[in-house]
Amino acid sequence: MSTAVYPGSFDPVTYGHLDIISRAANSFDKVVVGVLNNSKKTSLFSMEERVNILEKVTKDIPNVTIKAFEGFSVDLARECGASVIVRGLRAITDFEYELQMAQINRILAHDVDTMFLTTSLEYAYLSSSSVKEVASLHGDISKFVPKAVADAIHRKINVGNWETSGSNEE
Ligand code: ADP
Repeated sequence: MSTAVYPGSFDPVTYGHLDIISRAANSFDKVVVGVLNNSKKTSLFSMEERVNILEKVTKDIPNVTIKAFEGFSVDLARECGASVIVRGLRAITDFEYELQMAQINRILAHDVDTMFLTTSLEYAYLSSSSVKEVASLHGDISKFVPKAVADAIHRKINVGNWETSGSNEE
């Protein structure tokens, strides 16, 4: 059985991430979406919230599961019996960081490979941080994220416990 992990912050998940998840799910028997708990990053959503949101928006893809993790993606891969880490590539700006991470991961675990899926053109501009930025200015985010995600963002913004300056995620 071929298994891949797709690690990321997913703060929150966007249509760009969902596109990568569903395309990976077409290529692998099983895809584990790894939600990174990174104490160095200030996130809008807690790890539990990000996991819950992802579970909700991927419920119709039977071979996708969601798992919180800390530390190295290669350890997540090994834990899940995965030989592949999937990452999305949007633009040249993603490339340098992603190449470096893939090479480091290859040194940490030479039996785990990184595979890149290039973004679908309609999502090339999309990032979690831009969604949060637009939402904080009360702009329409319905083209960027599913309704469940938009509702969750609006609830956060309405309770006023978040400002754009509080997030350092790219
Ligand atoms: P990280 O903090 O690990 O970069 P993200 O949640 O921002 O986590 O992204 C997870 C992965 O999804 C990364 O490989 C990123 O390049 C990719 N990704 C993010 N947005 C898009 C998009 N719009 N299209 C394709 N891939 C994307």
